Amino acid sequence: MKKTNPIFNVMFGRIASEERSKVRREAEKMRQEFTANVSHELKTPLQSISGYAELLKSGMVKAEDVPQFAERIYSESQRMITLVNDILELSRLDEGLTEIVREEVDLFEIAQKTVESLKEEAAEENISLEIKGSKSIICGYAQFLNLIIYNLCENGIKYNNPGGSVKIEIADFEAKAILTVKDDGIGIPREYHDRIFERFYRVDISRSKEVGGTGLGLSIVKHAVAIHKGSIEFVSTPGSGTIVSIIFPKETEC
Ligand code: ADP
Repeated sequence: MKKTNPIFNVMFGRIASEERSKVRREAEKMRQEFTANVSHELKTPLQSISGYAELLKSGMVKAEDVPQFAERIYSESQRMITLVNDILELSRLDEGLTEIVREEVDLFEIAQKTVESLKEEAAEENISLEIKGSKSIICGYAQFLNLIIYNLCENGIKYNNPGGSVKIEIADFEAKAILTVKDDGIGIPREYHDRIFERFYRVDISRSKEVGGTGLGLSIVKHAVAIHKGSIEFVSTPGSGTIVSIIFPKETEC
């Protein structure tokens, strides 16, 4: 049997434990940053709601201005609901999926349903939405696959120009399935490519807020793709648009 050097063991043990505490410190820092971001993101719409409600309560608002104040309260509370829903999705992904069933699913069928649910939103923005491809069976979590497709397509609609398009394609191969979402919208400058999958990161904060973004969509996508052991490929050019491809490996047993 090969003898191990005790000095090596002590040193190696120390390096491993230093590495572990570094990972723990980083995770703790990320949690603190996330909590601070969530509090900030929730506080802003709440302050507006409270401010408008206070004005209405004081009786100082003219009758003809009341609908406009009510509309603001409504839209700010909608923003909070979207944010809370995104946070809940992220925490479900963080939890480790104990209660969710992994099963054989048809990626194309899920994508068709998701596209259907976004038809109205796309039409309102005058964006065409089309899907092509064929049946592709993978082993996965239907609700998280839906989240991936929904968030990517919704971004294609939100960061587009009137008259633009979003094209979804499912390509089936023996060992993998590829989902591609392509838009011809505003695109993302090169210097932001590394950051857009971070929680709460937005390229243009005011545009994101205007279109109802939370800054969490792509981090949900990243997390849900990782759960499927998939990978993300991404090409984006300002003025030409964005192409995101997700590669899902197929597993022999589900
Ligand atoms: P948000 O809720 O703000 O849309 P995301 O996490 O989905 O958050 O995306 C992060 C940022 O990346 C967005 O705020 C936007 O600036 C940019 N982005 C994402 N998808 C696209 C796209 N298809 N075209 C242009 N910009 C995009």
